[in-house]
This record gives sequence, structure tokens and C-alpha cells, in this order.
Amino acid sequence: MKITIVAGARPNFIKIAPIIKAIEKKQTEGAAISFRLVHTGQHYDKNLSDTFFEELNIPKPNSNLEVKSGSQAEQTGAIMVAFEKELQQNPCDLVLVVGDVNSTMACAIVAKKQNIKVAHVEAGIRSGDRTMPEEINRIVTDSITDYFFTTSETASDNLMKFGIEKSNIHFVGNVMIDTLYQNIERIVAPDFWNQFELETQNYIILTLHRPSNVDEEKSLINLLQGIDKMTDDKKVIFPIHPRTKAILGETNLVLKNILFVEPQGYLNFMYLIKNSFAVITDSGGISEETTILGIPCFTMRNNTERPETLNIGTNTLVGTSIEKLEKKFTEFLNIGKIKAGIPALWDGKASERIIEILLKK
Ligand code: UDP
Repeated sequence: MKITIVAGARPNFIKIAPIIKAIEKKQTEGAAISFRLVHTGQHYDKNLSDTFFEELNIPKPNSNLEVKSGSQAEQTGAIMVAFEKELQQNPCDLVLVVGDVNSTMACAIVAKKQNIKVAHVEAGIRSGDRTMPEEINRIVTDSITDYFFTTSETASDNLMKFGIEKSNIHFVGNVMIDTLYQNIERIVAPDFWNQFELETQNYIILTLHRPSNVDEEKSLINLLQGIDKMTDDKKVIFPIHPRTKAILGETNLVLKNILFVEPQGYLNFMYLIKNSFAVITDSGGISEETTILGIPCFTMRNNTERPETLNIGTNTLVGTSIEKLEKKFTEFLNIGKIKAGIPALWDGKASERIIEILLKK
């Protein structure tokens, strides 16, 4: 079986790393499986792309489509044009896409139109919020996918409600968590750890990059100023996403607690998360990692496609206003602890399950 694996953005790289390892393991056991790795170039900054390939030992992509930034349509269109050529020149039996970025949807469409089977890893998750580009990418991708690999029973149920045949849905667990378990012994403090006088649990991690939080400069500044006041004696480490940085531009913010740093590599970032007091974020993936690590996570969104992080894990949905964040954060400080638990099959073996299943197709 010849598989083309597609990855375009930071969370994709983290998800494909263990899948590739699982394929390589099967190859050493003599299985007839090979892969070709295609990087669409959706994320191209060194610290959003190359660093992850190096740290997670992901092989150099066989092809880089170099689409770079653009509007939603420009980027999706550019990926489709380039990936069509890529597939024509390098035929395969299956295209494997992960997550919910533009590359996921664009490459699934191109593959299906060439009558190539599509496997979607992290299928079926739904926020119910169609204003999010990711939700559109999920719905479109899942409408043409052949093999659905899900992270939860809820995601599998969503697919069944969507009319997908049960035999094509495989609840396998979470590949992002495979990466976390595979690298947890390798995590390491960033260079600024001593300089900022960080100690276990004396700081908060903040990440923001969703349009609903960062596209309006005034409300972004209001949010940052509010978080700066709210966190009192705790420093807030803010690895700033290029998208958020571009919105803030040259704005000179006077903040006493928030410390801006570059987007972190995986090993430094996981170290920071694991040792933090709490995390404030609008990322989906981070709420999964904090669930595994037992770190309180406050999600600055009105909905999540990962309900198990709320029901079982350490995540709290707070909406997008500073007032709501303050309320939930104060409640947490008063109680002093957070409920925690590990969702079913988030055990580090999802990628192996996926490859086992694909080999039987
Ligand atoms: N991440 C990282 N460094 C950072 C911020 C995030 O390594 O400075 C990792 C994080 O641990 C998670 C992934 O990137 O695994 C999530 O990426 P992002 O928030 O961009 O995507 P989302 O989860 O929102 O789709």
C-alpha cells in the first residue's frame, strides 16, 4: 500500500510524526506499506514548521508545495492546484489527511476527484460553529472521506448522525497524545526559564490566534490588559503566533506580567505547559495536552469540538470576554483544584491502531 501523507500546519506536523513512526515500524516487520510525505507549505516560518520536523524526527518531505499565506480561498485553491499535479506525478493508493486546516480539506477534495481513497485522522469532531474556517474544513473533508479515524465516541457518533456507515468509522484514540507520550521524557526548559525566574507553577501560559480573539486589535488589547491585571503575582508567558503578532504590529503595550516570546518548539512548549500553574488559550490541541498533563486550561472560545476535554479533562470553556475569564479563573482560585481524567484510548497507541486498520483495507 502506497500512502501519501499530507501536512500543512503546526498541529499537523505534531499529528503525522507518530503515524510515520508506526508505518516505519510496520516496514521493519516486513509489511507492504510505504509513504510519501507532502508538505503543502501552509505554515512556513521556521518556528512553526522546520523546528517541529527536527525535534520530532519527521523525515524531510518528499515534496513541498510552498503555497504560503493567502486568503482562505487563495490558500485552498493554491493547495488544490499544486496537489493535483503532485498526485498525478506520484500516484498512490490512499491519501491520509489529519486535523482540520485548509490543507486537510483541499487535499481530500483533490484526492477524491482522482478516485483515490482518503483517510481522515481526527474525523468527526464538531464545534457546531460554522463561522470557524476549521469547522467548514471538517464538514467538507468528512463528506468525502473513506476511512474515518476518531479521537472519541462523540466524534464517531457525530459521523453516524451525518450518515456515515459504521464500518468505516474507527475509534482509535488521539495521535496528538501519541506524540506527547513519545516525547515526554525529552521535554526541556526554554533558554528564558532562568532569565524570567520561572519555577514550577509560578506562571501561566497564554496562546491566542483564533480570528474571534485576535482579528480586532482593540478587543485583543483589552483582553491582554485584562489578563495582565487578573493574574496578579503570576507571570504570563505568551508565545505569540505570527497572525496575532501581525495584528498587534508596532503597538507598544505596557504590561506588567505578560512576557512576549516567540512561538516555542514542541519540546520547550510542552515543558512550559507541564510545569505551568494554568493555561489560557484558544487552541483545541492544547486543551487535549493539558487534559493529559492535568493542567487547568481556560479556553477563550464559545464552543469546542473537543467536549471530552470539558467533561473528563481539565478544560473550562470561558467564552471570549475578559469578564467571563475573570469569573471562571476566580472560581478556580477559590476552589484551588480542578477535576481531571483521561479520555478513553488516549493512551499513546492511536497511530499503531490506524496503521493496523489500514493494512487490512
Ligand atoms: N504549540 C507549540 N508551541 C507553541 C504553541 C503551540 O509547540 O508556541 C503546539 C501545541 O502544543 C499543540 C499545537 O502546537 O500541540 C497546537 O497548535 P495550534 O494552537 O496552532 O493549533 P490548534 O490546536 O488550535 O489547531
